Amino acid sequence: MRPFTSTIPLDEARRRLAAAVRPIGRTERVSLDQASGRVAARDVRSPIDVPPFARAAMDGYAVAAAETAGAARNAPVVLRVMGRLYTGQAAAAALVPGACVEIATGAPIPPGADAVVMVEDTRPAGGAGDRVEILAEAAPGQHIGPRGADIQAGALVVAAGDLLTPGRVGALAAIGAPDMEVYARPRVAVLSTGNEVIEPGCPLGPGQIYDVNRFTLSAVIAAHGGLPEPHRIVGDTLEALFEAIDECRDADLLVLSGGSSVGERDLIADVVAARGEMVFHGIAIKPGKPTAFAIVDGRPLFGMPGNPTSCLSNAYILLAPYLRATARLPENRPQSVRVPAGRRLGSAGNRHQIFTVRIREGAAYPVFKGSGDITSLSQADGYIEIPAGAGPVDEGTMVSVVLF
Ligand code: AMP
Ligand code: MG
Repeated sequence: MRPFTSTIPLDEARRRLAAAVRPIGRTERVSLDQASGRVAARDVRSPIDVPPFARAAMDGYAVAAAETAGAARNAPVVLRVMGRLYTGQAAAAALVPGACVEIATGAPIPPGADAVVMVEDTRPAGGAGDRVEILAEAAPGQHIGPRGADIQAGALVVAAGDLLTPGRVGALAAIGAPDMEVYARPRVAVLSTGNEVIEPGCPLGPGQIYDVNRFTLSAVIAAHGGLPEPHRIVGDTLEALFEAIDECRDADLLVLSGGSSVGERDLIADVVAARGEMVFHGIAIKPGKPTAFAIVDGRPLFGMPGNPTSCLSNAYILLAPYLRATARLPENRPQSVRVPAGRRLGSAGNRHQIFTVRIREGAAYPVFKGSGDITSLSQADGYIEIPAGAGPVDEGTMVSVVLF
């Protein structure tokens, strides 16, 4: 057994992680229907005006505004309807004096027209021929969406580094882009270690447990811009670990779980000693103290605790921000709610505590059982943070719950 010589504060761990981030440089082309949530890898300027033609913004009649001067409900101006324009048609013949064109929303404005009178401000005129009464004076430009009003040719639609929100995907669609160059998702190898850990679907033998961390880690990785690449379970020998790490040579980041505590042979520390450089090992946080971060064979490696709650908690707190920065995603802004503590919440004294809670009837109740109990997280709605050195939280104190 080799006890931790020291732990570092959570803030220091975060600083070292931020300093170690290398934003991904690889790019790939994805079709537009796969682009949402990705990060633009280049500036895109519009090759066209949007809309590409002046169009009606209302159903009604395209008119020459000057010809409607003085029109009112009690003083209609009568115009001849010279045709009808639906969407998808080319602008028809130019308007002749005394005439108008019935027009649908989205249809091109015919030459000679400079306003649209909405159908509510018109009435069919009686008598012979196709005529309409205009019941309100039109102002030039009224109910017309001018060509290029939305996006002008040459305008910047998306800048390199922009997160592609549904709205930005929409703008790319409007300029006719079939696909988009985006930053590749970092490939993240996920390795569960432990002689006792087995695949789901296999019957449990004596002393065996099912792999939890591979699934929780992969879920967090996928939710924060990474491509999880689960590896088969790795036995508790240095040789098996080296072999597994070598098999993941195409990964941008390795995330191991287990073998980082000091109760057994401290395999992570041995791997790092042989192949790389430890950035930190041991954080003053509860749960999740035996967490390591290192550069191994030139690649970043997280050594997460084997305990499922410690592992998942630190995946949220440390891995997710690191991965987002690597993927060039903006910082995560989790939702939080302020509610009173429904019960007294104990503190871990000199460790920063991530205290999982359930919200019931507007108050936060502890659900933290132990670091090894996944129900500490599966039954939680979120967590509160109790900084190192802060005392316990008394019942009724307002707390900020970060929601999962
Ligand atoms: P370790 O960090 O390897 O000392 O493991 C600490 C505890 O977590 C032990 O009880 C392990 O059996 C358990 N554990 C380790 N890896 C996993 C895993 N992938 N899934 C579920 N439990 C695990
Ligand atoms: Mg283990």
